Amino acid sequence: MANEWNTRTKLVHDGIRRSQYGEVAEAIFLTQGFVYDTAEAAEARFISAGEDEFIYARYGNPTVRMFEERIAGLEGAEDAFATASGMAAVNAALMSILKAGDHVVSARALFGSCLYILEDILVRFGVEVTFVDGTDPDGWKAAIRADTKVVFLESLSNPTLEVIDLKLVSDLAHAVGATVVVDNVFATPIYSRALELGADVVVYSTTKHIDGQGRCLGGVVLGRREFIRKTLEPYLKHTGGAMSPFNAWVMLKGMETLDLRVRAMTASATHLATALHGHAKLANVIFPHLASHPQFELARQVMEEGGTMLSIDVRGGQAAAFRVLNAMKIFTISNNLGDAKSIVTHPATTTHQRLSEDTRASLGITPGLIRISVGLEDAGDLLADLMQALEVA
Ligand SMILES: *Cc1c(COP(=O)(O)O)cnc(C)c1O
Repeated sequence: MANEWNTRTKLVHDGIRRSQYGEVAEAIFLTQGFVYDTAEAAEARFISAGEDEFIYARYGNPTVRMFEERIAGLEGAEDAFATASGMAAVNAALMSILKAGDHVVSARALFGSCLYILEDILVRFGVEVTFVDGTDPDGWKAAIRADTKVVFLESLSNPTLEVIDLKLVSDLAHAVGATVVVDNVFATPIYSRALELGADVVVYSTTKHIDGQGRCLGGVVLGRREFIRKTLEPYLKHTGGAMSPFNAWVMLKGMETLDLRVRAMTASATHLATALHGHAKLANVIFPHLASHPQFELARQVMEEGGTMLSIDVRGGQAAAFRVLNAMKIFTISNNLGDAKSIVTHPATTTHQRLSEDTRASLGITPGLIRISVGLEDAGDLLADLMQALEVA
């Protein structure tokens, strides 16, 4: 990793390993295993494998390693381990650290599957989990205890785009020696400053902006080398959450255009949020860099830009929201995000359907709420499509 390079250069060149053929594009090493010249060489590699010595694709693979180094370079992390999906990354980051009897403090507003790991799986294995309102400093202060082992949060929450004061939470966690694990998908790796603000471990679903073109699942855990190699790697290499070399290649190609795509999507999201703000058919427009956002000042401090996501609350509840969704011509109804295609989601009936009505209400997931992932289409076309759809609300 060349630290002196700026982001766009790193995104194109970091981590590259060329074979004897001198290929320009990263090669896909679609191999499960690796051969050794001699029995002694096999023995030596099992004792200690060097940087470019591989044993088995569940432990590591050259194409996957290229991707890990490229994203570690972008994030400013010492090391990374790529996984089969974002959830494999979240699960491994938590399970590799925790054991029965440990205490975790987590923000309540979480991606559904993250909530399942914390609320159902960890609890079944004897881990105690305390949930807090991520935006309330006093809540964190009251919940973090001397024996708290892990603090978990999504830096920008889904779907209500709440901003968590990561610096404040990290300081509280570090005062008791807890590890701060941040799921950073919504902030995007381009605008992320999670490690700088105090996170110890950063997790991404690379399915989102990093692929960014709706093809492959993937995930990654980033952090200090000691953590990645001594704590995370043993867990992952024996439980089998490895990223496929083919998917790593797709992610590598996605990284090349990541900065361009995220910035273009963010410019359009900012345009839409500004234009929709105050619309008569909307009770609310949520976008971190809109002055009306409850944490506007914090959002400006921790994020260079407002990001690629916004949420709108359509007056008239679910029926009106469904009419808007069904009237859209460019936006596709799906539940992914960070894609080249603009995507709209109705959280209350899909991603957050499993939650009780009370929990949804406490998280601000109203029946009229529509989450919008802004893609790469023309911003004028997107706005026109939203405006015509809102007419029928
Ligand atoms: C999508 C997502 C995940 C899960 O990622 P997968 O790649 O679908 O497993 C976890 N956290 C957040 C915030 C996400 O958006």
